[in-house]
Amino acid sequence: MTTLSSVSSNQTRPDASAALLETRSMFLDDEVATAAFGYKLAQSTQRSALVAPPATGLGAETAGGIIHLQGDLGAGKTTLTRGFLRGYGHEGAVKSPTYTLVEPYELAHCNIYHFDLYRLSDPEEFEYLGTDQYFESPNLCLVEWAEHGAGWAPSADVRIELVETDAGRTARCSALSKRGSEMLSALFG
Ligand code: ADP
Ligand code: MG
Repeated sequence: MTTLSSVSSNQTRPDASAALLETRSMFLDDEVATAAFGYKLAQSTQRSALVAPPATGLGAETAGGIIHLQGDLGAGKTTLTRGFLRGYGHEGAVKSPTYTLVEPYELAHCNIYHFDLYRLSDPEEFEYLGTDQYFESPNLCLVEWAEHGAGWAPSADVRIELVETDAGRTARCSALSKRGSEMLSALFG
């Protein structure tokens, strides 16, 4: 993995009220690098990466966060999520929730929810998923195709756009909240 660029900006997203606080990019050579990036992203959400004091019970491992994953079909969103789940010790299968729309991973010390909203035909359908409690802190939510739930799916702390670049991918990471900035600081050092 090679860092391509590191820029900060105070631009505002044209489509939402969330401020774009910071953008960082990373080049990912291959599938292994994408999964490793997901693993590192998981670490950036863990309490050991934060100044917050340790806690017990659910939330002991993480301060939570909402991550939107953007990019074409085959860009690597599910591959990144697989690495993320490995970062929390999940060793089992990570299947794409293309048809189920969400796959829950309720682990010993944290809840991780993996959404794929590609098949939502209307953003309003998001409401009928009944997943409000999934987005409560300190849960972690990774959302593929959040744009298909625009206006209904909760906004992100971090948005990651994966773009095909030569034979690899560029991951463009945007912090959209203070929590997101903390995550990018831990991720990019
Ligand atoms: P998505 O969830 O975005 O539709 P997937 O993760 O299911 O994409 O599939 C991504 C595909 O691209 C897989 O075949 C994977 O091997 C490949 N891939 C993932 N990351 C990279 C990368 N950095 N460079 C090249 N190929 C990659
Ligand atoms: Mg996918």
